[in-house]
Amino acid sequence: MTERFKFSIAATDGKARTGSIQMQRGTIATPAFMPVGTAATVKAMKPESVRALGADIILGNTYHLMLRPGAERVAKLGGLHKFMNWDRPILTDSGGYQVMSLSDLRKLTEEGVEFRSHIDGSKHMLTPERSMEIQRLLGSDIVMAFDECPRADRPREEIAASMELSMRWAKRSRDGFDSGGEHAARSALFGIQQGALDEELRKISAEKLTDIGFDGYAVGGLAVGEGQEAMFGVLDYAPGHLPEDKPRYLMGVGKPDDLVGAVERGIDMFDCVLPTRSGRNGQAFTWNGAINLRNARFAEDTGPLDERCECPTCSTYSLAYLHHLQKSGEILGAMLVTEHNLAFYQSLMKAMRGAIAGGTFSAFAADFRRDYLKDRK
Ligand SMILES: [Zn+2]
Repeated sequence: MTERFKFSIAATDGKARTGSIQMQRGTIATPAFMPVGTAATVKAMKPESVRALGADIILGNTYHLMLRPGAERVAKLGGLHKFMNWDRPILTDSGGYQVMSLSDLRKLTEEGVEFRSHIDGSKHMLTPERSMEIQRLLGSDIVMAFDECPRADRPREEIAASMELSMRWAKRSRDGFDSGGEHAARSALFGIQQGALDEELRKISAEKLTDIGFDGYAVGGLAVGEGQEAMFGVLDYAPGHLPEDKPRYLMGVGKPDDLVGAVERGIDMFDCVLPTRSGRNGQAFTWNGAINLRNARFAEDTGPLDERCECPTCSTYSLAYLHHLQKSGEILGAMLVTEHNLAFYQSLMKAMRGAIAGGTFSAFAADFRRDYLKDRK
């Protein structure tokens, strides 16, 4: 029988770990990067191309899908996997973060969050129970607990009260998920640590989550504008509060150098819109740093985007052509650069997994930073 959820650590190097998560829809090599498929699509990419670049799992957004086309409709159409033609694992967020960042007229109570859709102004309510139900209707493989994510610069009492609320919601999420019958028997539930930049609150949050018990644990409430130094400051201790034998997921991160620094501190999973969003804006990530393809210096450059990259874009098209597509606002420009950016992120994860397995992660990280950050002062 295929495992519901089995995390195995094959090797460690310092705090960095590499291994795999076995699930019914497939195995996820860790550390893993999950491309973001917000509205049942990884923007500008066919699902088969996302897979061909090495993604084992993608992320779907509860908030967007509940509003359009609606979770009940997705369920009626056979679930998110069938609907979007992706048969491997999908992680869905709980909707909590995006309700707070995207919707209008929010009202936060013990029960949940009432809000108006940013699309048509219609009124909705998200609670831990409803979030679990929506993620079940979508057919999610990794379900995230419903939480609240306050801004990191709020007063400590506010951060503490919000974290306590998220922990009560984590318990309600656990109960809601567990009552999901067949779905609960084949999928997994992750809890989310909160506490912003406060070590004591992070510790309390981790203890409360561990008492409830989850298949994996996310470090939430980071990458919300606090900066890399503050984020790494939290990551110096926060993963250590979470169970060592469960995957640790850093939500919404990040830039390539964020990923390397976070893996170094014991993180196993990531998601971020950066490679796809940047791809549509003409920003490309390479082993020698990020570049803006709109820059005039590429207008007659016949070389590839990244000499070390073997993706379809780099092996076929010149910088000059990609520059032209960006300048002309052509859809193909967004498609080709998105494909390269996702390929680069997956190559970076694969290289990190190899370095950890080979016991050479610190040398890898030093080489990476030397090349990637060389233009930075
Ligand atoms: Zn490439």
